[in-house]
Amino acid sequence: MSATSGGKVLVCGGAGYIGSHMAAMLAENGYEVTVFDNLSTGHREALKWGDFFEGDLRNPDDLKKVFHSKDFDAVFHFSGLIVVSESVERPDIYYDNNVTGTLNLLDEMKRSGVDRFVFSSTAAVYGNPVSDIINEEHPLAPLNPYGRSKLYIEEILRDYHRAFGLNSVCLRYFNAAGARPDGIIGEAHDPETHLIPNILLSTLREGRELKVFGDSYATPDGTCVRDYVHVQDLCSAHLLALEYLNTNSGAEVFNLGSGSGFSVLEVIKAASEVTGIDIQYTIESARSGDSARLVADSSKAREALKWRPRYDDVKTIIETAWRWHKNPTF
Ligand code: UDP
Repeated sequence: MSATSGGKVLVCGGAGYIGSHMAAMLAENGYEVTVFDNLSTGHREALKWGDFFEGDLRNPDDLKKVFHSKDFDAVFHFSGLIVVSESVERPDIYYDNNVTGTLNLLDEMKRSGVDRFVFSSTAAVYGNPVSDIINEEHPLAPLNPYGRSKLYIEEILRDYHRAFGLNSVCLRYFNAAGARPDGIIGEAHDPETHLIPNILLSTLREGRELKVFGDSYATPDGTCVRDYVHVQDLCSAHLLALEYLNTNSGAEVFNLGSGSGFSVLEVIKAASEVTGIDIQYTIESARSGDSARLVADSSKAREALKWRPRYDDVKTIIETAWRWHKNPTF
């Protein structure tokens, strides 16, 4: 990879929430970015950095075309379906998109001789935690097809390293949140299922009620505890993972989380303070498949990648999300 240009990077899913933040950060760090996205859940308005190639991972011809267009040095893979409940109802669609689509991508990388891959994995690979803080050695027992689809790819990547020399880093995200501080892109899912956007949207959109799913978990206030990690910090870990792959071979996994847990009610309180609005909510029954507590031990990423998250305070994370939600550009 050339030191001056930073190298050519393909960003699959670069029109989505985390992928678009990544495309921006790569471009700002001197990389030549090409986004590959089918725009099924991503946003055309988020395509502000690099070249755009509209295509679908499930269509090998689309992949052939994009790999013929440039000699990529590395691939980042953010294209994934991510709604747990939907994955339970339509496992076929989840496995087709998340597993078959990724296999097609890996095949094309193999054919083109691209041997560096950074994969978006998830804390959902752990299932119900058996320890308070989760490190990478925690048992892997996903509770739904979404988590299983990510775990299958992690295992495939280990096999591809042994068989074909493909070097990869899987980043297991805890709860991604926040937006670029300049507010030019942010989080916009349809339907929105995530806590922080749902809290903020309940203050901005008429008739949109905030529901808290479950208040009798075995946590201090009865609501679920999660580890919120800023999208910019996730992206900086991806950049470091790419640099790591320049000098290390293998198929590695790293947790990415802040290491601090916040309950749903604590997040609502922090959002009330950030927005200055007394945020109302109702308590509803628990969502199926939600773990009581998911908090990361990310010391492996801090040590091996020298990752230093900058947004380690949930209020700062909410502030950036609030800036975006008050003035969304899509
Ligand atoms: N949650 C909630 N109301 C919402 C959305 C989420 O109470 O409108 C809760 C959810 O049950 C979980 C936590 O907030 O305990 C984080 O959920 P999210 O969907 O943001 O991420 P997940 O942890 O499921 O990946």
